[in-house]
Amino acid sequence: MNKVNKALKEVDNSIENYDEEKVKQELNELINQYKVPVDQAISSIIRKYQDSTTNRAGKKQIKNIESDESGIEITGRIIRKTPRTIEVEGEERDVVSGTLGDESGIINFTAWIDFPYEEGDVIQIRNGYTREWQNQPELQIGDYTDIAQAEESVPSLEKFKSPKKVTIQEIDKVYLAKVEATIIDVLERSGLIMRCPECNRVTKGNECQEHGEVEPEPDLRIKAILDDGLGTVQATLPQEVTQKLTGISLSEAKEMARDALDRSVVEEEMKEVIGETVIVKGRSIGNNFLVNEIEKPQWAPKEKAKQILDKLKEMEA
Ligand SMILES: [Zn+2]
Repeated sequence: MNKVNKALKEVDNSIENYDEEKVKQELNELINQYKVPVDQAISSIIRKYQDSTTNRAGKKQIKNIESDESGIEITGRIIRKTPRTIEVEGEERDVVSGTLGDESGIINFTAWIDFPYEEGDVIQIRNGYTREWQNQPELQIGDYTDIAQAEESVPSLEKFKSPKKVTIQEIDKVYLAKVEATIIDVLERSGLIMRCPECNRVTKGNECQEHGEVEPEPDLRIKAILDDGLGTVQATLPQEVTQKLTGISLSEAKEMARDALDRSVVEEEMKEVIGETVIVKGRSIGNNFLVNEIEKPQWAPKEKAKQILDKLKEMEA
């Protein structure tokens, strides 16, 4: 039996309802013309035909996409695009990661193939598939995915990039979220922290988990739990936001730590914000909400409640 017939037999064990002549021809091309290793030819054909015969998700709105689906067809605007190099089984690969959005929601993607599109472009994707990443479906654009520029009307880039007021439960459904919530806890490793100058990781003493002994740089942050009555989320407030909320600058924090001979005094001071209601804007990444803007509500909740009560009394009178 020649290589192609052998491969066809293998393929036949895994897929159903396919055109045997067509598959045989494709296997022949891969094995004899392109000299693809037989195993690889078999698995790529199986993948291709499985995609087209099982679990076909078809045309979808982004919010309805789930993990581990294949045959996905969507149209969306590229909101963000970042080229990355990642290591897969010891080999470096160039990929593009980013975020796509339509009127229903957003989804993060990874493109494993040439991706000649830019932020703002509207693209139609056919035969995409999803994997689960940090509890969210992530769209995969691979060898068998077709991409084309599209004309369909999708909200503008500007609209995607302006914050939307949502509840904490909906925080990962929008690109930039605006949430009103109460700080119910300030977590450990808040306050004055030290970071590795190479990778930004928080160091233990002078030790970076990745780079060993380094000369760490001080930074200020709060890791907090936010609660809006419907849900909770862990939020990270970077230096600028922390300073705006607490009124403590990095140099003041360093002074406090120096005077007390102890960095943890800053963390203790940060706990003063527990119980405060804030309006925050930011992006949800994995299980963390990265805050880039903070403000206090125009009315403190107590005053707001009193104001509403007064109005009700007026109406009754
Ligand atoms: Zn490091």
